[in-house]
Amino acid sequence: MTELPLLMLHADTLLHARWVITMQPQQSVLEHQIIAITNGQIVDMGPSKDLLGRYMAGHEYFLDDHVVMPGFVNAHGHSPMTLLRGYADDLPLRSWLEQKIWPAEAQWLSENYVAAGSRLAIAEMLLSGTTTFSDMYFFPDTIAAAVDASGMRVQLASPVFDFPTVWAGSADEYISKTTRLFDQYRHHERITIAFGPHAPYTVSDEPLRKIAVLSEELDIGIHMHIHENAGEISEAQNKHGMRPLKRLKQLELLSPRLQCVHMTQLLDDEIRLLSEMGAHVIHCPASNLKLANGDCRVTDLQAAGVNVALGTDGSASNNSLDMLSELRLAALLCKGNNNDAASLPAKNALAMATLNGARALGLDSKIGSLEIGKLADIIAINLNHPRTQPVYDPCSTLAYSAASAQVSHVWVNGQALVVDHKLSQMDLVQVMEEARRWGAGIAAGI
Ligand SMILES: [Zn+2]
Repeated sequence: MTELPLLMLHADTLLHARWVITMQPQQSVLEHQIIAITNGQIVDMGPSKDLLGRYMAGHEYFLDDHVVMPGFVNAHGHSPMTLLRGYADDLPLRSWLEQKIWPAEAQWLSENYVAAGSRLAIAEMLLSGTTTFSDMYFFPDTIAAAVDASGMRVQLASPVFDFPTVWAGSADEYISKTTRLFDQYRHHERITIAFGPHAPYTVSDEPLRKIAVLSEELDIGIHMHIHENAGEISEAQNKHGMRPLKRLKQLELLSPRLQCVHMTQLLDDEIRLLSEMGAHVIHCPASNLKLANGDCRVTDLQAAGVNVALGTDGSASNNSLDMLSELRLAALLCKGNNNDAASLPAKNALAMATLNGARALGLDSKIGSLEIGKLADIIAINLNHPRTQPVYDPCSTLAYSAASAQVSHVWVNGQALVVDHKLSQMDLVQVMEEARRWGAGIAAGI
């Protein structure tokens, strides 16, 4: 008598993980797990002893020293500004923008510049474990093409200003280009479009009112630098007789679709307002520190129920796109500012860099945590390194010890984009060569 063969299920990819941090709110760290991925989705997840032998997979990864977790969501940046990394340092925000960044962009900005800079950023982000980013920059259509080719996920906040640039001539043109981009990408699996009014001081009332109406009609996000520093507040009080957030409230911009970037200089009643209106805050600690813009009251915002995500901002004010460094900085800064070592614990900092980011971008039903049915945006971080041994609590190890160079594997929509620390879909040598060429040109043109 012959034994019946055990019925095996098919999976595209099978991950054998030493540790899994699901980022599901109530779940702690799981050990010795198997994750099955098919058609870009997590289809099964459970203890190795239960699932071993159940699946036959096209690709199988044995991650014996690794933490497996959701990919990082870098909720704010300007990817092509990688080409200005280190170009203008040690300057306050307005001088940095008006004397260095904007003149350089006026001279160099083009589709080719944006393509080269965004490819460099995508390579850097993927290699350091970011699977989704939110980007605000000129030529968002060019960035979309770079993202599409790379396999990564993005929210493109198409920029809006009052003044003309090479991308558009008027606020109306910026807005119509955004709606056109939205039409073009409305069914794309990995690209979403948002309005990106740059800041309260660069966009006047009428276009902001229009954006409020359109974002509700199209049900898309509004991504905006707000309360970046004290100068912005006093200028608004002189010009409009009120603080920027109050003006945005009057213009009906405050809603769960609003992603408020920076949010330093917050008063108690402004925190209450953000909470009541369901707006999201995107904290950029490195950029805030580097430009000496002030601190974001993360603990008070979270205590009031406001969702706080994390972003690196552009490479010209950080100067890297490294989410592990960013979440560590956020945690340390919170403890120091609150004089309380219990402030922003490791798991909370990891949540800001994953699930909270997904929530801010309106993507939390699809990504941000590892759950059956969610999309397979997953990273593996190899802890077999002197700086991450021994391991008592993988959340603490990641938040306080690990380096982004320990990210070994990255999947987006189930596709392996980084395997054993190497990009699988991009020619890194070419990307770097292109960036060097631009850097040499910009340096020579000064
Ligand atoms: Zn920014």
